[in-house]
Amino acid sequence: MSITIKNLNKIYPNGHHALKDINLVIPPGMFGLLGPNGAGKSTLMRILVALMEPTSGEIDVYGYDILKQRKEVRRVLGYLPQDFRFFAKYKVYEFLDYAARLSGMNNTRQRKDAVDKMLEEVGLFDVRERYASKLSGGMKRRLGIAQALIHNPKVIIVDEPTTGLDPEERIRFRNLLSEVSAHDVTIILSTHIVGDISSTCKDMALLNKGQISFVGSPEDMLKMTEGKVWRLRVNNEQYRDINEKYPVISTIPMGLDWEIQVVADQIEGYDAEPFPPNLEHAYVYYMEHHLDLWTND
Ligand code: ADP
Repeated sequence: MSITIKNLNKIYPNGHHALKDINLVIPPGMFGLLGPNGAGKSTLMRILVALMEPTSGEIDVYGYDILKQRKEVRRVLGYLPQDFRFFAKYKVYEFLDYAARLSGMNNTRQRKDAVDKMLEEVGLFDVRERYASKLSGGMKRRLGIAQALIHNPKVIIVDEPTTGLDPEERIRFRNLLSEVSAHDVTIILSTHIVGDISSTCKDMALLNKGQISFVGSPEDMLKMTEGKVWRLRVNNEQYRDINEKYPVISTIPMGLDWEIQVVADQIEGYDAEPFPPNLEHAYVYYMEHHLDLWTND
């Protein structure tokens, strides 16, 4: 197991309880942490990369205790934060060289080789002379991954990487992460975008209001939602009624009527046919059914 988290809590100085008794084992490979905005994902990521201390709990990263061995933990970790920025004065290759120096690569020759190889790997070699701040959104993310990878870490933590990318860049970036995860590393991908997880991760956890509500594979989550998605045809009045009672996840106009998809254990009083769930449906189901179990103190 690459990372083990035990009884982790984070209470911010203003009293906000952002992480509540998290217990999680993260295996090698690509792991998705999915949750809505405000769930506590960034808080957990910042604790995992030893940038912030938890209020209580233990974390073991490849045999190192995150509280007592911060330096060692940082050495085996690469981090691509959500708000990654480049200094305007650096060209692409200069920036990567700078990141390599920061991570302790002191030999100039070796560093140059490592930088060139990494630029090739993330598909930025041809733009190495460009200023990093002038790259497209997708290229910036790839340079971000390159700086997180340059010292050969065992764990890479990527926080909300596809936000703001267009669909093509998003797919390219996901594919790059998958390629990286084939190199015997753990990638923790934190996101509120279901598609980021479904297309790349074999293991995942769902975080909501600071608590874990699901751990397993995306397929497991899908299985548990089977028989909970319904398709039905309704008029305006019925649509309003249903929308008040259940989460409606798709609405297609059909003449004067609507064809809608609804996530619920059962639909009372309507003629609804079961519909095969996708991960988006499963996510909505879990959010709806687990939200009210918790208090947000
Ligand atoms: P996510 O990354 O899932 O959007 P965050 O970890 O950023 O969630 O935030 C989790 C909760 O903690 C949110 O309600 C947020 O407002 C709160 N929070 C984040 N940072 C602080 C802080 N420094 N002080 C107090 N509350 C915070």
